[in-house]
Amino acid sequence: MNRLVLATRNAHKVQELREILAEVLERSGLELVGLDAFPELGDVVESGVTFAQNALLKARYAACATGLPALADDSGLTVDVLGGAPGIFSARWSGPLGEATGTAKDEANNRLLLAQLADVPEEHRGAGFVCAAALVLPTGEEVVREGHCRGVLGREPLGDKGFGYDPLLVRPDGRTLAEHSSAEKHAVSHRGEAFRTIAGDVEALLG
Ligand code: IMP
Repeated sequence: MNRLVLATRNAHKVQELREILAEVLERSGLELVGLDAFPELGDVVESGVTFAQNALLKARYAACATGLPALADDSGLTVDVLGGAPGIFSARWSGPLGEATGTAKDEANNRLLLAQLADVPEEHRGAGFVCAAALVLPTGEEVVREGHCRGVLGREPLGDKGFGYDPLLVRPDGRTLAEHSSAEKHAVSHRGEAFRTIAGDVEALLG
């Protein structure tokens, strides 16, 4: 079976993408593997200044290092009143990565963002997640697709599902993303939209 590599060591992301791309992978006879299948490879420095640039950097590196077609994504939260921040700095908004990780980091990021927006009224609390998904073939073809998930920022974290800023983003139905099941989140999320779109490119170029 031909392999398609997803440029991440996050097993959760590999599984999520296998679900989103299930039909295309089956029709095209492709197996999706993560970078854990290539333990000898190092990490990419995400030196781009946009989600698309960082997704492309990761996919190019994986395609070049493995000789396989590669997918990658980069995502984050953009807050209207902050001019699009935290944006590409979403993961490390409250300080450098490494000082805290996982849930502790997410909570610190959420606390800081809520404090920054404490006096911002409801009508100016618009925000959204953005995901850029990149497909790079060893032959040099490249495609980038974006997905979006809009909402408003609440005043306190609500819900215990998901990760990152999910407890802050209130969707039009009044629930935060952390109050959505994972299936509900995939259906409306930035990552779901970006990867459902790029699934068409995978099939057109590799199917
Ligand atoms: P990554 O590039 O997908 O690893 O995401 C970078 C950062 O953006 C994460 O550490 C989160 O802080 C934030 N983020 C991205 N996607 C989501 C999401 O679906 N929910 C909540 N936070 C997210």
